[in-house]
Amino acid sequence: MPGVVIVGAQWGDEGKGKITDLLAKDAAAIVRFQGGNNAGHTIVRDGEEFKFHLIPSGILHSDKLCVIGNGVVVDPRVLLGEIDGLKRAGVSISNLRLSANAHLIMPYHVLLDQAGETKLGKNSIGTTRRGIGPAYADKALRLGIRVQDLLDEKILRTKIRAALEPKQQALRELSVQRRKRRKEAGEEKGAEPELVPDPRLDVHAMVEEHVNFGHRLEPHIADTAKLCWDALDSDRTDIFEGAQAALLDLDHGTYPFVTSSNPIAGAACVGAGVGPADIDEVWGIAKAYATRVGAGPFPTELHEEVGERIVERGHEFGTTTGRRRRAGWMDLVALRYAVRLNRMDSLAITKLDVLSGIGTLRVAVRYRSKEGAVLDSFPYHQSILHSATPEYEDLPGFDADLGGCRDEADLPQGARDYLGFVSEFVGVPVRLVGVGPDRDQTVWLDA
Ligand code: GDP
Repeated sequence: MPGVVIVGAQWGDEGKGKITDLLAKDAAAIVRFQGGNNAGHTIVRDGEEFKFHLIPSGILHSDKLCVIGNGVVVDPRVLLGEIDGLKRAGVSISNLRLSANAHLIMPYHVLLDQAGETKLGKNSIGTTRRGIGPAYADKALRLGIRVQDLLDEKILRTKIRAALEPKQQALRELSVQRRKRRKEAGEEKGAEPELVPDPRLDVHAMVEEHVNFGHRLEPHIADTAKLCWDALDSDRTDIFEGAQAALLDLDHGTYPFVTSSNPIAGAACVGAGVGPADIDEVWGIAKAYATRVGAGPFPTELHEEVGERIVERGHEFGTTTGRRRRAGWMDLVALRYAVRLNRMDSLAITKLDVLSGIGTLRVAVRYRSKEGAVLDSFPYHQSILHSATPEYEDLPGFDADLGGCRDEADLPQGARDYLGFVSEFVGVPVRLVGVGPDRDQTVWLDA
């Protein structure tokens, strides 16, 4: 099975890191193909917790290549911070490869992201404010700075100047606002705000700093598409690891409350540089319930106490931002949409253990529009989705602690029925079930 894609099947944070870590056992390379340091994976191995934002989860396997593909946007400062952290933890990073074609998140992208969200106020998208959207925008505008540019000071300087030029107005406004705020707070006296440029935008300092980043990253910079082909062509497995999830896809998710890249399986080809025929298998990862971070429609959201219990028991706080996630019942209308969009072959259902003792478990099987129409499929029209109400099937649930289950036979009947219902409804076998955060806390099901 040389090309395997792993994608989030809901709104992200499904536990893709752990499943990737498991499925990567026999792979030659683990490749991230989109997103930036807005992702966050937590892997617990033998009780030790590792958190990653940019580096693919596969880094814990020293015998595998760990690739940041061309489709990822990379904040070099963050990447180097993660590299340093892993080194301190004694994890070898000699197998890390960074695409020379990946685009960089520059300091001005972060500033623009923060300013954009602040300006939108209560209509903000809920981005992580780390510059990811503006970096992808520059890529599309042909104003991006790529990893390879770090290795040539002259080119880097020219490109930074060209990228900054059209942003001058917005950045100047930002700088003035920032200084006004500081003055009002009594932190600054003297010069008129307009006269002093933001030190973070000084071209000379930016170039110098980034040339330095280039020196440090150089041993990892590579033609990563070729590395992927080399593995595939010799019948070894590449795992393409998606960040975020299907319902946050820029084209197919709940726009504009989406991420600024394409986290669906089809995007693995573009973001890693392989062909559709290289993909042999697609895994979708879904939680046994649903969560969503930030704003945007979430039909099965729970506002009552049971939602609170799920958040507490599932530790539903973001790896990257620490933000509390919104929680709700499993939404099979949305999941079936994600299954088709990614043409999934298999599902992994994580965090089933969190639902034990919750009582009756509800799963959404259709929506009803505000005019009363029955909606069996995920509505493409935003206004319909915003006002749709879910209709549920109630399943009995289970009380036993699942943490020690390792075989299908260990799972209580209520848990098996729940998984069977999900699988039947969306038409894809559930092959893996998570019953706790540790990588051993996993049950393989016979498909
Ligand atoms: P990702 O970005 O999709 O990898 O998801 P996150 O890492 O943000 O969130 C998953 C969280 O759930 C992590 O803290 C995992 O350790 C944890 N986790 C993963 N699978 C399970 C599971 O089956 N049960 C429980 N209780 N926790 C899990």
